[in-house]
Amino acid sequence: MEDCIFCKIVKGEIPCDKVYEDEKVLSFKDISPEAPVHVLIIPKKHITSINGLKKEDEELIGYIYNIGAKIAKELGVAEDGYRIVSNCGEDGGQTVPHIHFHLLGGRKLNWPPG
Ligand code: AMP
Ligand code: ZN
Repeated sequence: MEDCIFCKIVKGEIPCDKVYEDEKVLSFKDISPEAPVHVLIIPKKHITSINGLKKEDEELIGYIYNIGAKIAKELGVAEDGYRIVSNCGEDGGQTVPHIHFHLLGGRKLNWPPG
């Protein structure tokens, strides 16, 4: 996707504060953190949102959650707890149309979210 900001980050055209990378996913610090720990985990493959998921992506999403658990441990929030969430569409609060998973932790998170 030519105009996608997260695809540009994947390609190295826009810098990011990288936390983790492998052949399938990239994780970097959110530019506008909402918690002491706030990183984004994205697939390198462009998928617009949860609505754009295909059967073939099922393994990838499970993989992202496993990587998220690993990152949470590395960033020291695994024991106290954290949240991994993907906003979908306008009402879901999605602003970047490349599927991404927020990993939030380091403080008590409210539930339900606003
Ligand atoms: P959402 O609102 O769920 O689509 O989340 C998009 C997130 O991407 C927001 O939390 C933004 O702060 C974050 N974001 C946007 N641009 C960048 C960037 N260049 N680097 C890091 N995070 C970004
Ligand atoms: Zn993209």
